Amino acid sequence: MKDIKLDGDLSFHNIHHASKDFGNRFSFLPAAVLYPKSVSDISNLVTYIFQMGPTSSLTIAPRGHGHSLEGQAQAHQGVVINMETLGKSQEMHFHISANMKTPFVDVSAGELWINILHESLKHGFAPKSWTDYLHLTVGGTLSNAGISGQAFRHGPQINNVYQLQVVTGTGEVVTCTENKNSDLFYGVLGGLGQFGIITRAHIALEPAPKMVKWMKVLYMDFATFTKDQEQLISSNGSFDYVEGFVLINRNGLLNNWRSSFKNKDPAQASGFVSEGKTVFCLEIAKYFKQEDMDTIDQKVENLLSKLNYNESTLFISEVSYVEFLDRVHVSEMKLQEKGLWDVPHPWLNLLVPKSKIHKFADEVFGKILTDTSNGPILIYPVDKSRWNTKTSMVTPKENVFYLVAFLSSAMPSSTRTDGLEYILSQNKRILEVCETANLETKQYLPHYKTQEQWRKHFGGQWEDFLRRKLKYDPLAILTPGQRIFQKEI
Ligand code: FAD
Repeated sequence: MKDIKLDGDLSFHNIHHASKDFGNRFSFLPAAVLYPKSVSDISNLVTYIFQMGPTSSLTIAPRGHGHSLEGQAQAHQGVVINMETLGKSQEMHFHISANMKTPFVDVSAGELWINILHESLKHGFAPKSWTDYLHLTVGGTLSNAGISGQAFRHGPQINNVYQLQVVTGTGEVVTCTENKNSDLFYGVLGGLGQFGIITRAHIALEPAPKMVKWMKVLYMDFATFTKDQEQLISSNGSFDYVEGFVLINRNGLLNNWRSSFKNKDPAQASGFVSEGKTVFCLEIAKYFKQEDMDTIDQKVENLLSKLNYNESTLFISEVSYVEFLDRVHVSEMKLQEKGLWDVPHPWLNLLVPKSKIHKFADEVFGKILTDTSNGPILIYPVDKSRWNTKTSMVTPKENVFYLVAFLSSAMPSSTRTDGLEYILSQNKRILEVCETANLETKQYLPHYKTQEQWRKHFGGQWEDFLRRKLKYDPLAILTPGQRIFQKEI
């Protein structure tokens, strides 16, 4: 590989970070790491390995910020491409003007969303759709979906991209949009890195708000909670962000890191007694600009008056747009300080159809997670009837479905209920209940061990997924860590 023409570096020594990820459970050492300075570096590497043909076992994994959970950005004895290096060597180009209908920023796929936010704000703009945590790369989230509390309105991040530049598994550099090379465009979005390495993306922008009214309220009753959530995501003029949490055991930093709220917890509101029961927290936000300053309180009050939460539990905070969007980073820093960020993360993310969410809650919160959880549990609905569903992302059949995220942290070497084995066994029970009660759930950030399971996951989309793999990465060189296809040698 030493004779590949490169602007950047191919290192056989600086490789150890590439065998780690946020999940902290899988570790595969690559043979080398490419630190690319140009798109041709990536294309030259892929071409080189492609031309070695099927007799070579070398694979390639693009690595964004390495925040996947189960080794998806790793390549055992292969080459990992450090996409952040590309991000650092390429500039962002803003395409914005007063009368432009679709303003966008042209960015490197190795760029972190937090950097895109800061740069866009200098122009008075910001991307429309986010993840809850912004220290992730564009390529990393676009390979999955990028879902957060704005997705009910704008769709996930994969629906807010106008153009991609992609290096396919044969080394070809292709520009694609919904009209040009659209098969590759839609394939790569949510495509788990299987058809190409995204090198640049045009991300949709909108004029940015300045401030955010950020609220949390509690419900004792799951039916009332979900009814309000569903009503909120169906009406246009409502809040700009809708999420929610299940609060099973409110003690401890690890359980609360996603619900910490200016050091206040609505569950500690005076007059509120949960009597040890599981409670549900609705998290909502309304964005506003300087000129709305006089009317925003009234607007928010009107919106809140339509909800049926437990009255004594309203917490309102006013923060800047950046503070709101970068909220999880604050919790990250607290956990980092205590050495609790780099622990194993056996996360389980499920998409549950609306018609099954009550049965799901009865089974999971009523029978499995009865008295404790090992981290935050997010729960909020989205409606895909306004989404572009031509992408590779797999969702339940019903238009409205819930994202339920069990964001567990495991205490290293614990054999108790906060240990890895116990949490994994609970995850298994949750997955089994989805199966036996026929809840028609789909995994988000999916992980399976066999191709048979992958086929089942993709359902009717499998044939297209397979066809695209054979077309764009015929030797199965790309992204082996997803464990969908194996390079045949
Ligand atoms: P990596 O982990 O580096 O890569 C992820 C996958 O994408 C790998 O298979 C990799 O090979 C592939 N890949 C990376 N770059 C490219 C590229 N340029 N082209 C093609 N394939 C590529 N997700 C949500 O949707 N919503 C959330 O609110 C959310 N919150 C999160 C909060 C935290 C604290 C964490 C750790 C994760 C969260 N996620 C969320 C999940 C996150 O979006 C995914 O794990 C994402 O893939 C991480 O991005 P990354 O840059 O770290 O990607």
